[in-house]
Amino acid sequence: MSTNDLVARASDLRQLLTRYGHEYYVLDAPSVPDAEYDRLFRELQALEDAHPELKTPDSPTLRVGGAPLPAFSQVTHRVPMLSLGNAFSDMQAADFDLRHAELIQFDERIRRELGEPVIRYATEPKFDGLAISLLYRDGVLEQAATRGDGISGENVTENIRTIQSIPLKLAISQPPALLEVRGEVLMFKRDFERLNAEQLARGDKTFANPRNAAAGSLRQLDSRITAQRRLSFFAYAIAQVEGASWPATHAAEMDWLQQLGFPVVAADLRPVVEGAAGLASYYETVMQRRPALPFEIDGVVYKVDSRALQEELGFVSRAPRWAIAHKFPAEEAITLVEAIEEQVGRTGAITPVARLQAVFVGGVTVTNATLHNEDEVRRKDVRVGDSVIVRRAGDVIPEVVAVVLERRPMRPQAGGDLFSQGEEPQYPAYRLPSHCPVCGSHVVREEGEAIARCSGGLSCQAQRSQAIQHFAGRRMMDIDGLGERYIDKLVEYGYVHSVADL
Ligand SMILES: [Zn+2]
Repeated sequence: MSTNDLVARASDLRQLLTRYGHEYYVLDAPSVPDAEYDRLFRELQALEDAHPELKTPDSPTLRVGGAPLPAFSQVTHRVPMLSLGNAFSDMQAADFDLRHAELIQFDERIRRELGEPVIRYATEPKFDGLAISLLYRDGVLEQAATRGDGISGENVTENIRTIQSIPLKLAISQPPALLEVRGEVLMFKRDFERLNAEQLARGDKTFANPRNAAAGSLRQLDSRITAQRRLSFFAYAIAQVEGASWPATHAAEMDWLQQLGFPVVAADLRPVVEGAAGLASYYETVMQRRPALPFEIDGVVYKVDSRALQEELGFVSRAPRWAIAHKFPAEEAITLVEAIEEQVGRTGAITPVARLQAVFVGGVTVTNATLHNEDEVRRKDVRVGDSVIVRRAGDVIPEVVAVVLERRPMRPQAGGDLFSQGEEPQYPAYRLPSHCPVCGSHVVREEGEAIARCSGGLSCQAQRSQAIQHFAGRRMMDIDGLGERYIDKLVEYGYVHSVADL
């Protein structure tokens, strides 16, 4: 091949690979099999190895990472990376005005300052990841930096290039001379679980949460390690544009970023809404959807949609006046275990349950948390009197995450003398009772089973009650007016012994 042919072939390969990568990682709609992508990728790699002068800064071959760096260099942000003010809601308050008081204040202040009767807001989830700035010159990714202290951050360009969904080159024939995009690097829940499973299998340290995993992966001096971690990205703002017109609204800005090839969050998660009522309804909807989202979020963000109005509002002490982060209630809290009791299910399964001092977590008041089974209680060593971390995410049943051991009530050890007396826990380790707490039948736990069961069968009032509830419930007969409490009473007073008695 002539030099011209080689240059043309390398350019074709880059274009094809960029397109296929975008289809696969951003649009989730690949048009060619993986093997075809790999074949073209290897061809480009071989071409660049033989002719290093053909390498370009937007080549997809950079996605596998390069030689480790001695350290990250510092980058001064051309436009500071500010943080947002926060608003909270009191989800226990029944009345809208009380519940969302801070939101109403935010909207009122903006309406007053602008003298506008109604404000339109662009919304988006608040991703739980790392804020990143991406600088494109003539359409090619030139530099990527972490937020740092907002004024300067770390140059993580090599690592950012390994994130498949971040365009190395903008998908536009006449790119702006300069474009700075802001967004969040994060790890999807499924990729986090896979990474932790791999770490565990190798005997390496696991990560506490997807945010830590994303941070640990992005801040690798060896970009080849970053390339092996599945990091994702969502763009959420433009910080600078030169040589193109800046869209007039935030919503239009997001649409433009999407056209340029950036992953942005799905349109139904970023509606434009009106006024405090619109914001509150978005907030509550997203809070409901939160557990089912493939990535973690810790709230939502509102921005005045119009850029002209944003400019009019300006900034106060390094935070924009036109935007705010609305945080979700904390999903974890500490409280006391008052007792550990056992619940008997429909099939006799016995579940230990922690009775807790009431605590507000995940937007509701929690007084019980499941301990799953005996092994789980022993592994976590949950005892009466312990302070425990309780987690309630979405509609999931609250559970005890861990015991705060330093707060465990202790007493002087029995049998020690005055000078060598140690301490021991005031309460013993948990043991599953040998008899059913409801009917007194033997509790059996089969070899290799995690679940212990009451052997009483339908002679056990708890099992009978649950069986009838199951029968009358929505999934089966859907009998109106036959609720849990009513069935419990019918069974307790002996009116109903089986489903047939109904
Ligand atoms: Zn029983």
